[in-house]
Amino acid sequence: MDAPTTAVAVYDGNTLAGPLSEVFGVELMTAAGRCRSCGTTSQVATFRVYGPAPGFVGRCPHCEDVLLRLVRTPDALWLDFSGVSALRILIPTDSADEEQQP
Ligand SMILES: [Zn+2]
Repeated sequence: MDAPTTAVAVYDGNTLAGPLSEVFGVELMTAAGRCRSCGTTSQVATFRVYGPAPGFVGRCPHCEDVLLRLVRTPDALWLDFSGVSALRILIPTDSADEEQQP
């Protein structure tokens, strides 16, 4: 008798856009994370994401090690970025206005 299976789908990192922007308040899809295992730096949008239940797991597109885990409960969001040794987040600046000035 086969054990019951849980449907797990594979997504790209854009799947995490909603819950991550909810926490950080900035766009994280263009953020670049460095894999703690292989050292490759990849944009969050390129992470290989598995889920959704019981949460999302984002894996390195290079070595497949776990970069992040994200679990949403009714009153909290659990975020484990322990597979990422550094995360570079681009933040909006007013420099676009300044660049137009002579
Ligand atoms: Zn890696």
